[in-house]
Amino acid sequence: MTTLEIRDLQVRVATTDPDAKPIEILKGVNLTVKSGETHAIMGPNGSGKSTLSYAIAGHPKYEVTGGSITLDGEDVLAMSVDERARAGLFLAMQYPVEVPGVSMSNFLRTAVTAVRGEAPKLRHWVKEVKESMSALEIDSAFAERSVNEGFSGGEKKRHEILQLDLLKPKIAVLDETDSGLDVDALRIVSEGVNRYKAKEDGGVLLITHYTRILRYIKPDFVHVFVDGRIVESGGAELADELEDKGYERFTSGATA
Ligand code: ADP
Ligand code: MG
Ligand code: MG
Repeated sequence: MTTLEIRDLQVRVATTDPDAKPIEILKGVNLTVKSGETHAIMGPNGSGKSTLSYAIAGHPKYEVTGGSITLDGEDVLAMSVDERARAGLFLAMQYPVEVPGVSMSNFLRTAVTAVRGEAPKLRHWVKEVKESMSALEIDSAFAERSVNEGFSGGEKKRHEILQLDLLKPKIAVLDETDSGLDVDALRIVSEGVNRYKAKEDGGVLLITHYTRILRYIKPDFVHVFVDGRIVESGGAELADELEDKGYERFTSGATA
């Protein structure tokens, strides 16, 4: 049983303008995610959802100015990005990066070796990757293509779930893994996440703007995220309310 605990997290981001003050984005986030639980974080654009995922993953641009993140009591904020991955944290990014010149198969093998602490045996590995790729309906030719280079939006997202499948983290943060997917890709990606949940009893933090993916991946908890903090938490019924009425009840009066 694993517990990711986020307490009063405050994060700011440095702007590219050296004279401007850093912008405060997260203003005290409290959230606990345990093994086997799925939490959906839903909020309007610009509310700081990706900032939360970057802070958990350890992106250097996002400076934690207060609060804490722990994984089973261990101080995540004191860990490097690699240490966080080895500890069992995984982030599927909203905008996956392209890595020209590095094939997907090399990239995956390197990542899995780093996280597991030893290189997977080649024979098992080839089989493992093949099975994962076929479950995600990724053509085997992709293994030799450069990571994400020239991939469509949907192909990038399926590649993120392929990593999830192979890395088997304890807690997975999925940042808008549903955005830009057509119905078929959404189903394939969702089935991948559900397989991960069932096989690894993983905890999932599902960040999304739309309720659509929650028809495929059932959340145990839904949190409404506005202006750098969680303003309301509930069960799946909260997502139904957002689907009907949008974010207005939570945003009106929140900003001048
Ligand atoms: P969301 O994922 O909810 O759309 P983000 O976390 O991406 O929100 O962004 C929250 C706010 O912080 C936005 O106003 C965004 O413009 C700002 N922001 C995020 N990252 C940066 C950055 N690297 N430089 C400047 N502003 C940023
Ligand atoms: Mg956004
Ligand atoms: Mg975002």
